[in-house]
Amino acid sequence: MQKIKMKTHLVELDGDEMTRVLWPVIKEKLIHPFVDLKTEYYDLGIQHRDDTDDQVTVDAANAIKKYGVGVKNATITPNRERVAEYGLKKQWKSPNGTIRAMLDGTVFRKPIIVNNIKPAVKSWKKPISIGRHAYGDVYKNAEIKTERGGKAEIVFTDALGNETRETIMEFSGPGIIQGMHNTEASISSFARACFEYSLAETIDCWFATKDTVSKIYDQTFKNIFEGLYETEYKKKFTAAGISFFYTLIDDLVARIMKTEGGILWACKNYDGDVMSDMVASAFGSLAMMSSVLVSPHGYFEYEAAHGTVQRHYYKHLKGEKTSTNAVALIFAWTGALRKRGELDGLPLLSDFSDRLEKTVIETIEDGYMTGDLAAICDPGAKKILDSYEFIDTLAKRLLEGYSESI
Ligand code: NAP
Ligand code: MG
Repeated sequence: MQKIKMKTHLVELDGDEMTRVLWPVIKEKLIHPFVDLKTEYYDLGIQHRDDTDDQVTVDAANAIKKYGVGVKNATITPNRERVAEYGLKKQWKSPNGTIRAMLDGTVFRKPIIVNNIKPAVKSWKKPISIGRHAYGDVYKNAEIKTERGGKAEIVFTDALGNETRETIMEFSGPGIIQGMHNTEASISSFARACFEYSLAETIDCWFATKDTVSKIYDQTFKNIFEGLYETEYKKKFTAAGISFFYTLIDDLVARIMKTEGGILWACKNYDGDVMSDMVASAFGSLAMMSSVLVSPHGYFEYEAAHGTVQRHYYKHLKGEKTSTNAVALIFAWTGALRKRGELDGLPLLSDFSDRLEKTVIETIEDGYMTGDLAAICDPGAKKILDSYEFIDTLAKRLLEGYSESI
């Protein structure tokens, strides 16, 4: 079989621990036999980030800006224990945070659906993707706890020195106060990323706030979404046969329970934090959740939603078998290769990604899976495979699929 040729490099960001162990196995068994892989490799493993004073993370983000598409492995965000464990110079920042800040993106998460793992919500038949605004609101707030009564005010001094004041509350006893913000630029880029994602996936976009209560703050989110939709996206959505739907957050939550899925749920920062965990767990498992950072400038970075699976890594180091499920990592690769195929006009590369994803899903649906899924699937697993056996099984079935189609 002739290997599929690539035109442009894919930016490859390697990571840590168990996912670093599986990364080369996925490449060797599932990609190299079929694709003449062209990547520009960046080692974001914690040791190399430390050696380069984290310059490698910045270089990798710049490479994504240059080539347009990246695939990222899970990485350690060091805390105090990690500094001691790896003898690091300091607690380096989260690589995801650094990359997100440089690419100005929104994170989209999508469950990978198989028919033998039933969502907890019966009506859900297709994935519900979450687009989470990752800037501002309660995550960048100022808070005060007062010990006695008094007047709380909100004061804004503009660049010309003009003051605007609003009374929040005349307290007669102790209380709590919170101030938060967002920017029009950030909200616009969030809206744009959501609309672009809906178009790329050909799915409807739902967005909700509490604008009846928050008549300036939340209404600004609503107005920006609606304004951008009317001026730039309505025609494109109509042509693609999809729609944009705005409602109140409580109404949307009620409707989500009755939808069959196949939508993008655009969430304000806090809503996205809470609802993405709800959606992921209702669909089954963190190991079955793909994640992509979409930048309004047209850059894409694909990754798994889970971390480096530290607990499994320590078992692996002791020579024990592991049940780490590689599905989300594989989908990071297929997502990135499909996007590369689309951008470079290489239908064979996109077709390869479709085939590999189909192989993964059919293998699990046929009853061959890792322990995490075996614990929740119905009917029960035919065979529970370890991390390597699962990848080997996929490789064999993928090759058989190609042989049959020749
Ligand atoms: P984790 O890697 O997401 O794993 C938490 C638990 O979820 C695992 O112990 C395992 O449960 C289960 N799990 C996650 N992925 C799985 C998979 N592919 N197959 C089977 N089970 C899976 O989180 P963590 O172990 O708490 O964090 C480890 C490191 O990851 C941290 O240093 C953190 O900074 C980093 N992290 C990175 C990213 C990222 O790069 N995107 C995201 C989150 C966390 P059982 O142990 O019950 O089997
Ligand atoms: Mg959360």
